Amino acid sequence: MAYTYDDQNIFAKILRGEIPNDTVYEDEFALAFRDIQPQAPQHVLVIPKGPYVNYDHFAAEASDAEVVGFTRAIGKVCAAMGVEPGAGGMGYRMIANSGEAGVQEVQHLHVHIASGRVLGRMLKRFD
Ligand code: AMP
Repeated sequence: MAYTYDDQNIFAKILRGEIPNDTVYEDEFALAFRDIQPQAPQHVLVIPKGPYVNYDHFAAEASDAEVVGFTRAIGKVCAAMGVEPGAGGMGYRMIANSGEAGVQEVQHLHVHIASGRVLGRMLKRFD
C-alpha cells in the first residue's frame, strides 16, 4: 500500500487554522466539526490530527496512541452530540468513505457521525 498525503486538502487547511470550522470537540488526537452540508439534523466529521488519507492508511501507519486516541475521541464526540443510546440518546451512524467506491471527496481521513432522525437502511439493494 502506498499513499501520498496532499497537505493542501481542505481538512489539512482546517487543522492549520487557515479555514474556519464549527468545532464540536478537540483534543491531542482529533478535531470534530459540523459538516458544512449536513445530511442529517446532526452531522459531525471527526478527523485525526495526523496526515492520513483514509482508514486503511490510518490503521496501517498511525501509532497505537493515535489509533486509541482517535477512537476515544469518537466516543467523546458522540457524548458531546448527546446521541449515545446508552445515555438516552437516539443513536447514530458512523461512515468513513474511502476512494472511488466510497465516493471520498476530501483526501484526509474523516468519520461522519450522523443522527437526529431515523436514517433508514445503510445501503440500497444493488440488484
Ligand atoms: P466525503 O464524501 O466522505 O469525502 O465527505 C466530505 C464531507 O466534507 C462532505 O460531507 C462535505 O460536506 C464536507 N465538507 C467539505 N468542506 C467542508 C468544510 N469546509 N467544513 C465542513 N465540512 C466540509
